[in-house]
Amino acid sequence: MRTRESVCRRKVRYASRGEAMEAATASGLILYAYACDRCFRFHLTSRTKGRRRQPASAEPGRVQPSPSLSA
Ligand SMILES: [Zn+2]
Repeated sequence: MRTRESVCRRKVRYASRGEAMEAATASGLILYAYACDRCFRFHLTSRTKGRRRQPASAEPGRVQPSPSLSA
């Protein structure tokens, strides 16, 4: 997961995952700690809402090949 520099800069940095998760617990929110590949520390993200995850069947333009091709 690539972290944008602007995101990195405005987020709180934690020295370790444990520290980040402690802060997440203290906040009372459902937050996840993740390692940042920009500052090599840990940030918290709330990714329980607004995830753009579509079910596979709703993907347009993706046709499954028919398993029963006549030989
Ligand atoms: Zn960062």
